[in-house]
Amino acid sequence: MIRYAKPTVLDDALGLLAGGSWRILAGATDIYPALGSRPLREDILDINGLAELRGVAETPVHWVIGARTTWADIARHPLPAAFRVLQEAALEVGSRQIQNVATVAGNLCNASPAADGVPALLVLDAEVELRSADGVRRLPVEKFILGNRRTALLPSEMLTAIRVPKRAATGRSAFFKLGARRYLVISIAMAAVRLVAEHGRIVQAAVAVGSCSAVAARLRGVEAALCGLEPGAALAEAVRSAPMDELSPIDDVRATAAYRLEAAREIVARAVLLAAGAGGRRAAA
Ligand SMILES: Cc1cc2nc3c(=O)[nH]c(=O)nc-3n(C[C@H](O)[C@H](O)[C@H](O)COP(=O)(O)OP(=O)(O)OC[C@H]3O[C@@H](n4cnc5c(N)ncnc54)[C@H](O)[C@@H]3O)c2cc1C
Repeated sequence: MIRYAKPTVLDDALGLLAGGSWRILAGATDIYPALGSRPLREDILDINGLAELRGVAETPVHWVIGARTTWADIARHPLPAAFRVLQEAALEVGSRQIQNVATVAGNLCNASPAADGVPALLVLDAEVELRSADGVRRLPVEKFILGNRRTALLPSEMLTAIRVPKRAATGRSAFFKLGARRYLVISIAMAAVRLVAEHGRIVQAAVAVGSCSAVAARLRGVEAALCGLEPGAALAEAVRSAPMDELSPIDDVRATAAYRLEAAREIVARAVLLAAGAGGRRAAA
């Protein structure tokens, strides 16, 4: 017989995790579809009773996104311009119905290569807060997601928050998703970009691409190529000739590896232009 628990106090939830093997359930928009026609066989720890984990808060040095914060919460929360990349990603996750229940944290923990939230959180230098009955540890998103559906989360831990350092919540940003159709679609590739300009030149660039490697990746060669340039058409040219060695796409039902590589370069260029305020088309299908 499987067990179901819906604690209302975080310490009770962490106590349960310390004493057994549980599947944490948030919006369940990944958990239920993954079951297909199989019945649930795991003990379920439903975190929807933990009111303290929902919402966006501000500390002197961080923006803190609670683990139960949904994509709809993110889309409508007033945030600095740098968060536009995450807010645009929020509006691309599934449909309104999905956005209303699905959480940003669930998207990270599910660790799909096609998770729309991951590239956006990478360009915001986000870190995860992992709590257990023994204490808390924090990891950058880059170190949290280890591979396709693999994370550094221990069975005794819960992801309780995603933290964005305020030093990374600067500049302007954009998200660009490429799918086989415009809405309700799994990404063929997606690009997230955050640019900081000073005195008419790019002084900081953060660029990440998803669905083109087992884990979404920051493109350091592209970032280096953009620094020092003036916002304008030259940015797209720089993207077109910059190295993208981090990408290793595969052929699958959605696209070939070769198409993905070419598409990634194009959508990065478009997202860069959007973040720089230099135009570009918002969505592609
Ligand atoms: C119709 C449909 C369309 C979709 N479209 C998209 C899309 O366009 N883009 C996209 O990226 N995704 C999409 N998804 C996938 C899904 O909606 C997202 O990944 C969503 O953000 C998952 O959040 P959730 O709260 O529903 O996670 P859940 O399904 O509740 O959990 C997902 C995984 O994370 C774990 N988990 C959840 N919360 C925690 C926590 N706090 N601590 C530790 N582990 C935790 C769970 O145990 C589980 O393994 C779609 C899903 C559906 C059904």
